[in-house]
Amino acid sequence: MIRVDGVLVSKGQGGVYGEKMMKGFRVWDPYRSKFAALAMIRSDKPETELTEDLKVLYLGAANGTTVSHFADYTECIYAVEFAPRPMQDLIEVSRRRKNIIPIMADAGNPVEYAPFVESVDMIYQDVAQPNQAEIAVKNLPFLKSNGIVILMLKTRSVDVTTDPKNVFLDTLKELEESGLSVLDACWLEPYHHDHACIICRKIM
Ligand code: SAM
Repeated sequence: MIRVDGVLVSKGQGGVYGEKMMKGFRVWDPYRSKFAALAMIRSDKPETELTEDLKVLYLGAANGTTVSHFADYTECIYAVEFAPRPMQDLIEVSRRRKNIIPIMADAGNPVEYAPFVESVDMIYQDVAQPNQAEIAVKNLPFLKSNGIVILMLKTRSVDVTTDPKNVFLDTLKELEESGLSVLDACWLEPYHHDHACIICRKIM
């Protein structure tokens, strides 16, 4: 991915959500986007590389901040969001990026969007729900064999009373038990507190 003077950027036209511009590129702020944080922390990992042949199923699209940057790098993004207010913004973003397919649906009930989504190379999930691992596993049928899951885990959404480290370990176990192979995992400090990222490969 592109960096200018060490700053992560993407190459599309600006003005999507009020982001800064730098030398003609859109600044991708790691404090606003967990994927940008991951890219800063794990710049050497090929699994975090976004390429123009990539099809992505994005769960928890919100108002399209991170989705808009994905769209600058990848072939297409199926962007799932269930809340009406951010969905309105996401639709606006989709008007400017023709490779975003906005889908208003519950990521925990993938049959709602199964007719509209083709096989993808990556599932990216950022839903901040108690059952984050379960939602990722339910969406695995969309992922090609050898495809990548990037799960942004908000530990306090899973259980606010449990030590974040234990929530993290329990989630790793749940993903492994579903047949995924965990490739990497890290905390998103200093950009996002009590958030971890887990990267897995679908081996079946
Ligand atoms: N990924 C976004 C970004 O970086 O710009 C931020 C996502 S925000 C932390 C989480 C979003 O997930 C919220 O907009 C919420 O409405 C959505 N969400 C939570 N549970 C969901 C579900 N089951 N299905 C679809 N969207 C969900």
